Amino acid sequence: MLVMPSQVSAQTKMTPAKIDALKTELTKEIDKQQKFTQEMVDMVFSFGELGFQEVETSKYLTDILQKNGFVIEQGISGVPTAWTAKWGSGKPIIAVGSDIDCIPKASQKPGVSYHDPIIEGAPGHGEGHNSGQPLNITAVLALKKIMEREKIPGTIMLWPGVAEEQLGTKAYYVRDGYFKDVDACIFTHVANNMSVSYGDAGNNGMVSALFSFEGQASHAGAAPWRGKSALDAVELTNIAWNYHREHMETTQRSHYVIKDGGDQPNVVPSKASVWYYFRERTYPKIMQMYKDGIKIAEGAAQMTDTKMTYEVLGSAWPGHFNQPMAEAMYENIKAVGLPKWTEADQTLAKAAQKEMGNPEGATVESNGLATTLSPLAKPTATSSSGGGGSDDIADISWNLPTIVLRYPANIPGLPGHHWANAIAMATPIAHKGVTAGAKVEAMTLLDLFVKPEVIKNAKTYFTDVQTKDVKYTPIISKTDKPAIHLNEKIMQEFRPEMKKYYYDPAKYPTYLEQLGIKYPTLRDTKTEGTGK
Ligand SMILES: [Zn+2]
Repeated sequence: MLVMPSQVSAQTKMTPAKIDALKTELTKEIDKQQKFTQEMVDMVFSFGELGFQEVETSKYLTDILQKNGFVIEQGISGVPTAWTAKWGSGKPIIAVGSDIDCIPKASQKPGVSYHDPIIEGAPGHGEGHNSGQPLNITAVLALKKIMEREKIPGTIMLWPGVAEEQLGTKAYYVRDGYFKDVDACIFTHVANNMSVSYGDAGNNGMVSALFSFEGQASHAGAAPWRGKSALDAVELTNIAWNYHREHMETTQRSHYVIKDGGDQPNVVPSKASVWYYFRERTYPKIMQMYKDGIKIAEGAAQMTDTKMTYEVLGSAWPGHFNQPMAEAMYENIKAVGLPKWTEADQTLAKAAQKEMGNPEGATVESNGLATTLSPLAKPTATSSSGGGGSDDIADISWNLPTIVLRYPANIPGLPGHHWANAIAMATPIAHKGVTAGAKVEAMTLLDLFVKPEVIKNAKTYFTDVQTKDVKYTPIISKTDKPAIHLNEKIMQEFRPEMKKYYYDPAKYPTYLEQLGIKYPTLRDTKTEGTGK
């Protein structure tokens, strides 16, 4: 490949005054795009697609990017709904990502403070993953205008976290080389304040594995002695794991659902399966848990005279993020600040918090939306972390300098992975939080493109601090494949009905108006019964 000399001579040098002027311009441009941002947030909310099934979402987002001059590669890592969208030329190459999948049974009317699903039992954005890509797209389109005019060299690569809830794709993107030449990555994730962290994020990595048992069917009434129950094997696995739990470190999290427990009671189940998430703080501990799980499942198979097979459905490393990049971003967070919430926004937030049973008092769990910025989050000492959730962005962060911008588009103090976390996600709360986040991201991207020292320092931190003693070993093998079959049946069941509620911005200024929702809608305490 021919590389133009101007691209080799690295990044454009700019005076601080010039950079400040461009940041002001970015802010103004992003404010002008608020309608466009709101439409994207509402549109993706209305699609409500589960992991690996983000068909409408990916089509909608890549269409926008393609129209704006991005080159799209569809189906990366063999995942139909995964893609990259590239624009620009030469170095540095900066990746910009966010998740796009939603949560089962989290359907909820936005702007309504109590449980009121759009479609009973349907999936919905009860995590807020409808907002991250709209933020990224708003930010990069504003930045692109400036890069074109100022002839700033560099490449932007947008990419989606497909099936983040299954920790399903990011390790595959890394394994398959999509981040090989990328210099740095900014990821965005919905939150209830604006923040960024560096060092050990204090969370858990994990492996997601399905254990499947095969026995023998028989008439459960007439000839039960001829059957070998695969369901017995599942139950014995779970019992053994729950006894084992007593002897595990307090940082672990492990949980399971029975994916297949048989068909009907009078047939001894010949097939059954159980799906586990094993979470711990370090790679060796995650792998130890996984080995223990396999051993227990093998034991259960022996006890029931069934056959056991297992497969990895997802994985994630524990998070570690880049200090120089986080420090650069935090300056921009301070400059942008939190959105200005209205009385209506705060009323909805407080009503939702009350609905969730949060104790009254002026705590973040019960006092509405955030009005003071979070500090720059410092590393968590391994000894002091109690463990927690996982995000496969860590598999990117252990391969190149990465940070996660958390932006204030949701209500504090909600349970998470829950319909309540969808209440704010197609309302002015999310719209304003995304606009504020887009400003921070665009400004930080500008820093990365025009201040060569930021990327240089980021790389030094990555090699000399982050990966000095800890080396990335993939949890997935060379032959593991993304579990793209997941959620297929659920979406097949609900999609026909959900289609009727896709947002139509040509007819309705907002999704709230399309659904005929007064903002905010609160539980009517006088005429109890409008709610549930
Ligand atoms: Zn998430």
